[in-house]
Amino acid sequence: INYQKASFLTSAPDIKALPADTGIEVAFAGRSNAGKSSALNTLTRQKSLARTSKTPGRTQLINTFALGEDQRLIDLPGYGYAQVPLEVKLKWQKSLSEYLVKRDSLKGLVVLMDIRHPLKDLDQDLIHWAVGSQLPVLLLLTKADKLSPGPRKKVLMEVREASLAFMGDVTVQVFSSLTKLGLAELEQVLDQWFYP
Ligand code: GDP
Repeated sequence: INYQKASFLTSAPDIKALPADTGIEVAFAGRSNAGKSSALNTLTRQKSLARTSKTPGRTQLINTFALGEDQRLIDLPGYGYAQVPLEVKLKWQKSLSEYLVKRDSLKGLVVLMDIRHPLKDLDQDLIHWAVGSQLPVLLLLTKADKLSPGPRKKVLMEVREASLAFMGDVTVQVFSSLTKLGLAELEQVLDQWFYP
């Protein structure tokens, strides 16, 4: 797929407001500041398709992007932001798990985690929900340029080992928006999800 042709479709305040549940979509999720916007911009070769925000957690909108005829990228709101009230957090968790379970067009989930802080509780919850609804999951260890090759490889191996515990289709790759490390691998996985 030519991810460069991605174009903004809609901003939805909640799951109910998403585009019609047809075709194939792939969702990106991660803690605030994990590097999700940067990864989406890198994937699509667009400077500001997804906003890289200085105030993490402020926007709770689900942004959707069209790739082609009935193919979408879904940018889910970042989670784990301390200053969001508990009530809002719980409500979001409920609708997120609902989205993963009920959305027919959803064919894969990319979970972005800073390579220096992988597999936090909320990441693990999300992976469990996705695996529970038979969704393939790609764990992207972001900002991989922050580690030198040795430690980078070590974390990759550790997270791969830990990911076996989810008992699902969970793969792990390193990624850097800065150096484009892992970009080809990311595209390969997405291509498979869009054209099974
Ligand atoms: P989001 O909140 O998950 O969308 O994260 P952003 O994409 O806005 O990135 C959060 C911060 O991490 C920003 O300051 C980015 O410049 C930085 N960042 C994102 N990706 C990378 C990367 O690959 N390498 C480095 N060194 N910094 C990154």
